[in-house]
Amino acid sequence: MSLPSAPQLLRGQKALVTGANSGIGKATAIALGRAGADVVVNYVAGRDAAEDVVREIESSGVRAYAYEADVSQEDQVGAMVSHMVREFGTVDVLVANAGLQRDAALTDMTVEQWRKVLDVNLTGQFLCAREAAKEFLRRGVVPEVSRSAGKVVCMSSVHQVIPWSGHVNYASSKGGVQMLMATLAQELAPHRIRVNAVAPGAIRTPINRSAWDTPEAESELLRLIPYRRVGDPEDIANVVVALASDLFDYVVGSTIYVDGGMTLFPGFATGG
Ligand code: NAD
Repeated sequence: MSLPSAPQLLRGQKALVTGANSGIGKATAIALGRAGADVVVNYVAGRDAAEDVVREIESSGVRAYAYEADVSQEDQVGAMVSHMVREFGTVDVLVANAGLQRDAALTDMTVEQWRKVLDVNLTGQFLCAREAAKEFLRRGVVPEVSRSAGKVVCMSSVHQVIPWSGHVNYASSKGGVQMLMATLAQELAPHRIRVNAVAPGAIRTPINRSAWDTPEAESELLRLIPYRRVGDPEDIANVVVALASDLFDYVVGSTIYVDGGMTLFPGFATGG
């Protein structure tokens, strides 16, 4: 089913999306471009995929370029944001999306697996938010562009509140993202900077392929989703665009669950 095309909610704004050459980040970068923003497509590996995303964004008539940086590395994040300010003049929207899983049972989990996930999923969001916030504060509000000086959208997960056995590093990182987001929202709101989060449920992307790529896995997954549909990256992208726009100007420090009701489970009748 095709949806009506999004209005130009972000016309003239400059957006940075981390981990934007795959899955949710890719769909979000494309949706931001359709909404009128110029977009930096961050990636850590896979330049060709990043360039494909750039071309698709450019077809909306806005500017885009790909930038390689590991979000867990302070110097690389600093260089990425400085480069964006030189190229596009500023940053209006940061979508701190990059993330990964390194799954293992607790007793098998190495400290490297633990650290890698915390470094990318939590420290990466801290570093990107810090560098973006410096630019928001430097520039301040430009009323013709937006009512706020800047917007940060943190990509969280339903696992910021639902424990996830066998994934303690990932669940801990997303629990951390919830408090990172809320604290930054409180700290930055007086400067007219809005920080919020989107918490996806089960979305069809490479990160969780084993959960949906066989009929058996998918029907098992659907039991956990009251809406009985696995999400698509565009389901998340649409909410990010809205959240980053002035339509949501009074939304500060919120997490929007985009999960087909997954966080309601098992509080609904399963029959019997
Ligand atoms: P994905 O694997 O398709 O995309 C993750 C992206 O992050 C990739 O582009 C990857 O290269 C990038 N990345 C990884 N490490 C990086 C680093 N050090 N620096 C820069 N980029 C890096 O998976 P996805 O599902 O699109 O995940 C995007 C975000 O959504 C993640 O934060 C994930 O935790 C979150 N999420 C996904 C789901 C889901 O069901 N797919 C559910 C909840 C939350």
